[in-house]
Amino acid sequence: MEDMTNPTGPRLPSRRDFLALGAGAFVVATVPLARSRRSRRLVRRQVPMMGTIADVAVVHSDPRYAQGAIDAALSELALVERTMSRFRDDSDVGRANLVAASAPVDVTEGTAIVLTEALRWADLSDGAFDPCLARAVALWDVGSRTVPPPEAAYTLYAGRGLHRALELDRSGGHTRVLFHEADIGIDLGGIAKGYGVDRAVEALRSWGIHDALVNVGGDLHVLGVSEDGDAWKVGVRSPTNPSGLTTTVRLTDRAVATSGDYERFFDRDGRRFHHILDPATGEPRRSANHSVTVVADTCMTADAAATTVFGSPRPRAVALLAKAAPHTELLHLT
Ligand code: AMP
Ligand code: MG
Repeated sequence: MEDMTNPTGPRLPSRRDFLALGAGAFVVATVPLARSRRSRRLVRRQVPMMGTIADVAVVHSDPRYAQGAIDAALSELALVERTMSRFRDDSDVGRANLVAASAPVDVTEGTAIVLTEALRWADLSDGAFDPCLARAVALWDVGSRTVPPPEAAYTLYAGRGLHRALELDRSGGHTRVLFHEADIGIDLGGIAKGYGVDRAVEALRSWGIHDALVNVGGDLHVLGVSEDGDAWKVGVRSPTNPSGLTTTVRLTDRAVATSGDYERFFDRDGRRFHHILDPATGEPRRSANHSVTVVADTCMTADAAATTVFGSPRPRAVALLAKAAPHTELLHLT
């Protein structure tokens, strides 16, 4: 049904549109079956994961072997979800959020890697990326709310550089997390999905797979080439028309991530309240754009980069990417 309040513009997508089609980047199917060589088959599986759909595809001559490799890739994604979700009290992040303000909490090596990279982005972006916003993110709860929380509630978190209160203690061969402020909480929602995608790709590599793709809700990493022997064709979905593409690009051994204001949000009084917060104000970040897509060597880098630069004008975004992650490019700003 068309949006009657906006008869001239495109219909604004509903949350359901994006759940059905997935947001951000995806691989555009290109190969007519007759053209694909029979020795190179695409074996593909899609399963619910990390609050979205994980899509793993492997090009291989033996479908049973390919399915084994896909099992291994999905296990890595499940492990990252189990250890880094803030919605589980038994994950590394859940345990830290319950205890780390009073006692150090041991975390697994993967969580330590992601926290270290998250703090690097926090430093380089002067706190625009902040992995310690869990309480503010929970307060805004943009997936359920229809009105903003009281100003006094979210300004509690504003302008404090919360990431500086997170200590990673690496003495003794493992990593312990400690909070130096009582009201911080870890939220790796802006970076952990990308790390999971990279681990899934590593699992495929360790199975000897050369050509594959892993896509979790638009954060994707492509390995080698598609079943037709050409580089993977990756499309970026339009934020205003879920069935339209804003751009396509051919990629090999690269990762893509998109951040936008159209996946989780509510609209109120002409303003969009979305899920990426500005730590300076404690509110959703003001942005002239609806989405940003970043291409990088790893999906963790692309994921962190897209969350960090969402809302920045192009020159500022490009300058930050050059400083933080060489070989990373701004593919699209809509
Ligand atoms: P993404 O979709 O990768 O851009 O990540 C958005 C998610 O990152 C949000 O749902 C929050 O969990 C978290 N987040 C929100 N604001 C920030 C921020 N300023 N820095 C880091 N993570 C954030
Ligand atoms: Mg991100």
